[in-house]
Amino acid sequence: MSPVPPAPDNALEVCERLSKLTGVTVLPNEPLAPHTRFAIGGPADIFFETASPESFAEALKTVREAGLNSVVIGGGSNLIVADEGFRGVCLKLSSRRLRAFGLRVEVECGVGLQALVNFTAQRGLKGLETLTGIPGSVGGAVYGNAGAYGHSIQERILSVHFLDGEKGDEVREFSRAECEFRYRDSIFKKKKDWIILSATLDMETGNAVTLRETSARILSTRTRKYPPSMRCAGSIFKNLILAELPRPVAASLPPGVVIEGKVPSAWFLEQIGAKGMKRGDLEVADYHANLIFNNGEGTAKDLVFLIRDLKRRVAMRFGIDLEEEVQYVGFDAEASQLQK
Ligand SMILES: Cc1cc2nc3c(=O)[nH]c(=O)nc-3n(C[C@H](O)[C@H](O)[C@H](O)COP(=O)(O)OP(=O)(O)OC[C@H]3O[C@@H](n4cnc5c(N)ncnc54)[C@H](O)[C@@H]3O)c2cc1C
Repeated sequence: MSPVPPAPDNALEVCERLSKLTGVTVLPNEPLAPHTRFAIGGPADIFFETASPESFAEALKTVREAGLNSVVIGGGSNLIVADEGFRGVCLKLSSRRLRAFGLRVEVECGVGLQALVNFTAQRGLKGLETLTGIPGSVGGAVYGNAGAYGHSIQERILSVHFLDGEKGDEVREFSRAECEFRYRDSIFKKKKDWIILSATLDMETGNAVTLRETSARILSTRTRKYPPSMRCAGSIFKNLILAELPRPVAASLPPGVVIEGKVPSAWFLEQIGAKGMKRGDLEVADYHANLIFNNGEGTAKDLVFLIRDLKRRVAMRFGIDLEEEVQYVGFDAEASQLQK
């Protein structure tokens, strides 16, 4: 890794200007590890958090005008932050308004996904119960089209409001189709200057008791797989679409591996002996080959080494590229290489 350049000269001045905004927390040189579930990562020059979309938009403008880099995070449950941290401003919008109007639900990006699932289930609004137990915020869930058990958040999205940084932070609204949702993907992954503010959801009528029971069942299964204290990011790699696999690989799959047109990355990883592999304090779970956790003192360097090693072994054996579901922060130009 290249040495970290010094903090920009104007970082202190920007910090002071951000501190003058209403309802904000501004922390210079804030370690990002505590803001991530992996508990890994060095400091951001500035960490900025607010529950006010107006203050957030002002902050973004200030940061851009000052020419500093910025990154937006949610709950930090899908992030790998570099040991060197992030050279620039890490922004978090924790606006948490959540309202229901009949079958419509309006939810701001800072609401926890689980809080949204509970809110809808309690009101007998069906459609999000299988997302129980996915950590993180609604903003992060929309960004990565989070999902589980054959369903993802896109199915419920009517529209998304976002700040368009390319158009002077204009607030725009996209329909579900315009969000270009795909498996663990959305247009927001391509447009890093677009900040998700809120979503409007379209729910179905359900039975509150049944929905709560379904949620509880799923949560108990998930808690076994991902104990709440586990420092991880869930699945490291996306699953693979069967139709996109090279024909010989698809033909060699044993029966029962394909689930709803996808092949779990875990299957390929198991074949190369990933379960239980270690690097420093990072370890691949011995019961799930697509799950890496931090035993306590793990570093991003070791984590990235392990991920690259797994990718290389799968590529050599099967000729396929695993693609990360996790998102990198602070790796700059290298990140695009890592994602390949
Ligand atoms: C134990 C565990 C289990 C998991 N299980 C699942 C699962 O079953 N299914 C699943 O889909 N995921 C799963 N995940 C991954 C993760 O929880 C989801 O990806 C989640 O939606 C990320 O939300 P977050 O708020 O934590 O986002 P973060 O990790 O903070 O950020 C993820 C990405 O979203 C972007 N982002 C966040 N907020 C915004 C915003 N407002 N506007 C624009 N971009 C934004 C960030 O820039 C970043 O690139 C799991 C993770 C863990 C730790």
